[in-house]
Amino acid sequence: MIVLEAVSKSFIQGDESIPALANISLHVKRGECVVLKGPSGSGKSTLLSLIAGLMQPSQGEVRVDGKEISKLPEHFSAAIRRQKIGFIFQKYHLIVHLSVLENVMTPLIPENLPLHVLEMKAKAVMEQCGIAHKAKMRVNRLSGGEQQRVAIARALINDPLIVLADEPTANLDEKLSRALIDELAILKEKGVTLLIATHDPLFFDLGCVDKIIEIHNGEIIV
Ligand code: ADP
Ligand code: MG
Repeated sequence: MIVLEAVSKSFIQGDESIPALANISLHVKRGECVVLKGPSGSGKSTLLSLIAGLMQPSQGEVRVDGKEISKLPEHFSAAIRRQKIGFIFQKYHLIVHLSVLENVMTPLIPENLPLHVLEMKAKAVMEQCGIAHKAKMRVNRLSGGEQQRVAIARALINDPLIVLADEPTANLDEKLSRALIDELAILKEKGVTLLIATHDPLFFDLGCVDKIIEIHNGEIIV
């Protein structure tokens, strides 16, 4: 479902080239749950962004469900992102002055679906994520845990084949973290492929995790 072949990524800043990932090869099968572990600055977020087609590798190939997302023009990679991928960002990236419902619907807006269909889909995922009772509330009025649930609902509204989660428990207490992990385990049972970047030890001995990959200074340690 996700294939990286010899992927490197450097960021150019002024005259300097800052290496973030070096020669990463990685295969994640359909329905697998893989945890990507590593200290801050090791390249986890960069790796997830490459898989989501939000940035391009400096070298190598990234394939998602057989399509080489790293070589596609932006409007094609955006379509794959919209149709196949749910991304839970570390800092949520919600639109704070919009309501919960509006935030959850945003990924599907380019699909030109009738409003009542959008609302029906949003309602289903908001219920699944325990946030439906706040549908009309503006996001900046919610607690951190509630915002996290909105971010998850938004990531699920397109019925993604793949969910990428960037430190999803970073801003949650242990109880909410465990609730989130239960949600992710349910997704795995439904056949969703999961890649979770985290250094939260709660993930490391979970039954639903198939593989833990450790990354340091942009390289996978075996
Ligand atoms: P992690 O998510 O594991 O904390 P990141 O992928 O965010 O690590 O960062 C990996 C390295 O790439 C770090 O050295 C970081 O400073 C650098 N980096 C990440 N994004 C950018 C960017 N947009 N511009 C320049 N450097 C970046
Ligand atoms: Mg990060």
